[in-house]
Amino acid sequence: MAKPRVFERFRDVQEELARTGSAVFRDKDSVESLVIDDPYSIHYIHSYAEDSPFFLALAEGRILGSRCTNPRCRFVFATPRSHCMFCGRPTEWQELPQKGRVHSWTTCHFGSEAFLKETPYNLALVEFDGAGSLLLCRLKDAVESEIYVGMPVEARFADPARYRITDVWFVPSGT
Ligand SMILES: [Zn+2]
Repeated sequence: MAKPRVFERFRDVQEELARTGSAVFRDKDSVESLVIDDPYSIHYIHSYAEDSPFFLALAEGRILGSRCTNPRCRFVFATPRSHCMFCGRPTEWQELPQKGRVHSWTTCHFGSEAFLKETPYNLALVEFDGAGSLLLCRLKDAVESEIYVGMPVEARFADPARYRITDVWFVPSGT
């Protein structure tokens, strides 16, 4: 059996793994590491518990934030939380607008398994009228060089929903 080929860039190792299932990665100190492709899968059964309404709402094309129930606070969180981080009181669900603005963004050149096919991809912190915190979401159908702070964006939803955070993403408004 032929010895696995040697590569100095991990991307090349990944490609070789996809082709043959094994490769050698030589690092900058010339240390050679044998790398193998060893797939495994698990069924990860877990409960969203009190976060459940958020995921059920995504399936209906709605984004839920939460609002502090303290009449003197009423802070609105775009990333919902059960208790207010300012005054400690419980929150209640509050629907967010479908449209927002880019507060900041980054382009990811690597990601978890769910995103590898669309890498590189853009992540944006989205701000909404009436909410005091931000929501981290993918920004699709946008060219990196054309994204800017304050850019109007609007939500899109997976149909059918898979009850995952990837059920929602944003696109530039009007696309
Ligand atoms: Zn509060």
